[in-house]
Amino acid sequence: MKKILSHSLIYILFMALSTEETLAQSEINYVVSFPEAQAHYVDVEMTLKGIKSSYIDVRMPVWAPGSYLVREFAKNVEGFSAKTSSNGTLSSNKANKNTWRISGTKNKDIRINYRIYAFELSVRTSFVDAAHAFLSTSGLFMYPEGQIKSPSTVTVKPYGNWKKISTGLEPVKGKANTFYAPDYDILYDSPFEIGNHDTFEFDAAGVKHEVAMYGGGNYDKPRLAADMTKIIEAETSIFDENPNKRYVFIVHNTLAGGGGLEHLNSTVLGAIRQGYNTEDSYKSFLGLVAHEYFHLWNVKRLRPQALGPFDYSNENYTTNLWIAEGFTAYYDNLMLRRTDIYSPEKYIELLTGDINTVENQPGNRVQPVSEASVDAWIKYYRPNENSRNSTISYYDKGAMIGLIMDLEILGATKGAKRLDDVLKAMYDEYYKKQKRGYTDAEFKAMAEKIAGKSLDEIYNKYINGTEPISFNSYLGYAGLYLVNDNAGKSIPTLGIATAVRDGKLIITSVQRGTAAWADGLNVNDELIALDDYRMTGAADPKGVTDIARIVSGKKVGEKLKATISRDGIIQNINVTLTQNPGARYRIEVDKNTTAEQMEIREKWLSL
Ligand SMILES: [Zn+2]
Repeated sequence: MKKILSHSLIYILFMALSTEETLAQSEINYVVSFPEAQAHYVDVEMTLKGIKSSYIDVRMPVWAPGSYLVREFAKNVEGFSAKTSSNGTLSSNKANKNTWRISGTKNKDIRINYRIYAFELSVRTSFVDAAHAFLSTSGLFMYPEGQIKSPSTVTVKPYGNWKKISTGLEPVKGKANTFYAPDYDILYDSPFEIGNHDTFEFDAAGVKHEVAMYGGGNYDKPRLAADMTKIIEAETSIFDENPNKRYVFIVHNTLAGGGGLEHLNSTVLGAIRQGYNTEDSYKSFLGLVAHEYFHLWNVKRLRPQALGPFDYSNENYTTNLWIAEGFTAYYDNLMLRRTDIYSPEKYIELLTGDINTVENQPGNRVQPVSEASVDAWIKYYRPNENSRNSTISYYDKGAMIGLIMDLEILGATKGAKRLDDVLKAMYDEYYKKQKRGYTDAEFKAMAEKIAGKSLDEIYNKYINGTEPISFNSYLGYAGLYLVNDNAGKSIPTLGIATAVRDGKLIITSVQRGTAAWADGLNVNDELIALDDYRMTGAADPKGVTDIARIVSGKKVGEKLKATISRDGIIQNINVTLTQNPGARYRIEVDKNTTAEQMEIREKWLSL
C-alpha cells in the first residue's frame, strides 16, 4: 500500500531524523591563538564533545579547493597532542600522512592541540607574522573522519593589538570573536584576515560587501567601491540573482602581488600595493575582481560534478576546468567591457593578445583542453622548462572556447541568445533545481539546446582535440576577422629563450619545431657564441638582443654555429635556422559588415 504523507507528518519525521543525527555527531569547536606570531605560528585547539566511538581519526586536508594541487598541508603541523576534558593524556598516532588516530575516546569529551607553521603568503596558504594573520582554513583545521557535514565554531584570540577579523563566516551572537560554520565545506571555504587592516563597505546588487585591505597602498576607496559595484551588478544580472547576503573581499597588497582564490561568499585577492593609480594596473585589478566574483556562480555553485562535495584527502578530477576557469577568464575582461571600464578597442586589443598567447603555444597542438583540466594536478601547477611545448592552460584556451561558443550561439540565434543564457540555464537547472554538479554531457546538451544546433565541431576539434581554432568562422558572425601579419613572410628563428645566471648566458627554454629543437640546443646550456661572436643577451635601446640581431641578419635555411658549454664541456653545434612558426594576429573589421553581423557585434561587445 502506498500512502502519500501529509506535509506536517513529513516535517515531524524530518525533525526527528535531524535531531538523531545531531546527537550522533560530536560538538566541535576550534580556538586559534598566536603565542608566537612573530615566528609564524598559529596554535589550534580543537574540542570534540560526546564521542561515541573507541577511537577517532582527525584529518588535515591535502589541498585547497579552487587550486588543483596536492599541497600536503599536514607538513606544517607540529606538536599534536590529545587529552580528555579532565586533562588525561590520550594516546595518538599518525595513521597516514594527514590522519591522526586518537584512542580511548569512547564516551569522552576530548581536546586536541597542534600548531601550524604559516609563512607562505598566497591566496591559498596561511601566513602569520607580528603584523597580521591570513588563515586559509583548509590547511589549518583538521576534521573528524566521517563528520564532514558537522557544524563547528571558531574562536579567534587575536595577537597583540590586533583588532579586526574579516571572514565570510557568520559571527555567533553573544560570543566574542566567535564564528559559526554549518559544515566543513563552508569552514574550508571561509578564510580569515586578522590584524589591523583597513576596511570599507558598500552595497551592490542588494548585498552588503566588505573589503579588507591588508598591506596599505594607493587605492581610492570611493572609486573602487563605484567600479566594483558596476561589475557586481552586471554579473548579478546574468544569473538574475545574487545568492549571498554578505560578501567579503580580502585583499593582500604587496610589492608584486597578484592572483586570487574564489569562495562561496568571499574571495582573496593579491594586488600590487602601489598599482592602483596606473590605468593598466588598476584595471587589471578590476579584472581580478570580476574573475573571482564571477566564480561565486561559476564553480562555487554551478559546478562540475567532481567539484563538490570534495574529497579533501585526494585529487578531485574533472574534464571541465575549461568551463569553471576558462569561461570565468573569458568573462572577466568581457565584464569590464560590458561596464564600460574597457573601451571596445581596449577589449579587442586584450582579446587579440589572448588569441596570440594560445595559438603560439606549441602545447596547444599537443594537449586537448579537456585533458589539461584532468592533468591540472600534475601539470598546470607543476610546470617545467618543457611545459610550453607540451601543455595548454585551461584558463587561456578555456577563455577561447568561451569566446567561440558565445559567438557561435549569437550567430546561430541571430543575436537572440548567447553564452550568458547557457550559464543562467545551467545554474537554474543544476544548482537551484537539482542541487548537484553537472556532467560534461549535460553542459553540452544545454549549450546545444540554447544554440539550437550541434556543437560537435567545437567539442571534437577544440575541446577534446587540438586543431587550430578557425577563429574567422566565429568572428565572422560579428563582421570581424583575424589577420596574421607573419603570413607569407620568411622569418628565421633559433627558438630559444635565455637568462643571465651568475654572469653566464643560459638557455632557459627551447621551442618545439624550431632550429634549436631540431639541432639539439638544450635547456641549461651556456650560450657562449654564435658564429664566433660572443653573446651576452644584452638588448639595444630598441630592445633587440645580440642573439636576435645575428639571427635576423640571416635567412631561413642558413646555418649558424653555436658555441656552448654543456655541463662544463665546450661544444660547437651547427643549427639550421627554421621559419618562425609563430603567428602575429590582429582583429580587423570587415568593411562589408551586414546589418545582421553589426547587430551581433553590438550585442557581443555591448556597443
Ligand atoms: Zn578562477
